[in-house]
Amino acid sequence: MTNVLLKNIDQLATFNENRERISNAWVLIADQQIAEVGSHSGPVPEADAVIDLSGYVVLPGMINTHHHLFQSLLRNLPVLQDVALFDWLYYMYLLMSEVSDEDQYVAAQVNHAELLLSGCTTTADHAYLKVNDMQFDTSVKAARDMGIRFHLARGSFSIGQSQGGLPPDHIVEDEEDILADTERLIQAYHNPDPYAMTRVDNAPCSPFSVSLSLMKRSIALARRYQVGNHTHFAESPDDERYVQETYGMRSVELAQELGWVGPDVWFAHGVTMNASDIDIMGRTQTAVAHCPNSNMYTAAGCCPVKKLLQAGATVGVGVDGSAANNASNMIDEVRNMLLLQRVFYGADALSPTQALEIATLGGARLLRRPDLGSIEAGKAADLIGVRYERLAYAGGIHDPLAGLVLCDTGHVDFSMVNGEIRVRDARLVGCDVGELTRTLNRLSQALIARVEKRYGLDLTTPTWRRAYPYEARG
Ligand code: ZN
Repeated sequence: MTNVLLKNIDQLATFNENRERISNAWVLIADQQIAEVGSHSGPVPEADAVIDLSGYVVLPGMINTHHHLFQSLLRNLPVLQDVALFDWLYYMYLLMSEVSDEDQYVAAQVNHAELLLSGCTTTADHAYLKVNDMQFDTSVKAARDMGIRFHLARGSFSIGQSQGGLPPDHIVEDEEDILADTERLIQAYHNPDPYAMTRVDNAPCSPFSVSLSLMKRSIALARRYQVGNHTHFAESPDDERYVQETYGMRSVELAQELGWVGPDVWFAHGVTMNASDIDIMGRTQTAVAHCPNSNMYTAAGCCPVKKLLQAGATVGVGVDGSAANNASNMIDEVRNMLLLQRVFYGADALSPTQALEIATLGGARLLRRPDLGSIEAGKAADLIGVRYERLAYAGGIHDPLAGLVLCDTGHVDFSMVNGEIRVRDARLVGCDVGELTRTLNRLSQALIARVEKRYGLDLTTPTWRRAYPYEARG
C-alpha cells in the first residue's frame, strides 16, 4: 500500500454529513481511497509521500453528468451560432454522419483535459453516435488513457426520418444490434465495485430519435444488470411539443408510462417541467442533469433546480456537448447554474456551497456512486485544490470556497483521481495539451470540409442575417 499525505491545506471543504470545513487540514490517501482526515492542531500521520497544499482550498472532485464527447470537433461552428434545438439538430445530423473513430478519440481527450483542469474527476459521456468506423469502446479507452473516472452511457438512434424520427435514416442503428451491443459493453467494461473507474449505463438518445419499444426493452435489460439509465427528456420547447403531439402526453408523463422513472434514471435538461412533472420527479426520486450553459445557448429555458430539489428529486450538473456549450468547464458550469437559478428564482435560490454540493454530492447520488462526492474515510481519493492567491480572487479571499464559483476561477491547480495526481501546479500531468489542440483542429477542419463537400453547404460563414445593432439605426 502507498500512502500520500496532503498537508497544510488552508481550508478543507469535506462535504461530509455535517458539511464540515477544516482549517489547516491534512488528508491521508491510501492507494485509491481516503484513509483519514484531520487538522494539524492534532497528531499528523506519517506517509510515503507528502504534498504541501498551503494556500489551497481543497474539496471533492466534481462530477459531470451529461456530455457528448465527439462534439468538441464542432464547437463555435458559425452555422450553429444562432439556431434553436431542432434547427441545430438539422446541421448536427449532417455533421455527425462524417465522424470517424479517430475523430471521436481525440475529441474525447480534449474534453477530458478541459474537464480535469476545471475540477471534474468523474464524467459521464452520453455517446449515441455509431457511424463509419466508430466504436463505443474507443470512448472507454480515451477516458482510461486520460485517467478520468468514467461512465459510458451507451446511447443510440433507432428511428430515422422515414419512420417519423428526426435523424436521417443512414445514421440510425438496428434495435436488436443496439440491445446486443449495450449488453456486450456492460459485460466488457461495467465494474460494479466501489472505486470503479469505468461503469456502463443504458442511454437511448431522446424521444424523437428512438422508439418506445427500445425505451422499454433497454431499461429492462439495464435493470437486469443493475446499471443506470439516461436519456434527454423535457429538453426544450421543440422537444416537449414533439412529445405532446406524437404521444398525447407530457414528456415526464411519457417517461412514467414507459417505466423510465426511479433512482436509477436521469434525464438531461428537464427545462420544460411543470409542477405536476416536478411532483412525479420528486416522488420517484428521478434525477436531472442540469446543463445551464447549453440551455442558455440553445435558448431552451431554465431547469427548475430549486423546485426539483424541494420535491425530492436529485440534480447534478452537466456541461453537455461542446456544440451546444462551446466549453467543457465544470467551474464555469456551476457558476452559471447559480446565476441562472437566481435570475428565475431570486437571490436566495442557490448559495455557492449549495451549487458546489450539487456538482459533487448531487452528481454522486445521480450516478448512484456512494463512494464519491465527499472527502471522508472510505471514499474514493478524488480531490481538487485551488490556490486562491491569484488575480481572480484578489480582494476576495474571505470565503475561498465560495470564491471558486463566484470569482472568475477558471481552472484548478491540483486534481487527484483515484489516488493518482492528474493536475499539478495548474498543468495536466502526462499530456501535451498543445499537441492535442493542434490534432483536434486538423481533424475538425477536415470533418467540416467533408460535410460541406458532400452536402454542398457553407458551414463556416456566420449565419447572422439580422442587422448589427448600430447599423439598424442608420
Ligand atoms: Zn445532450
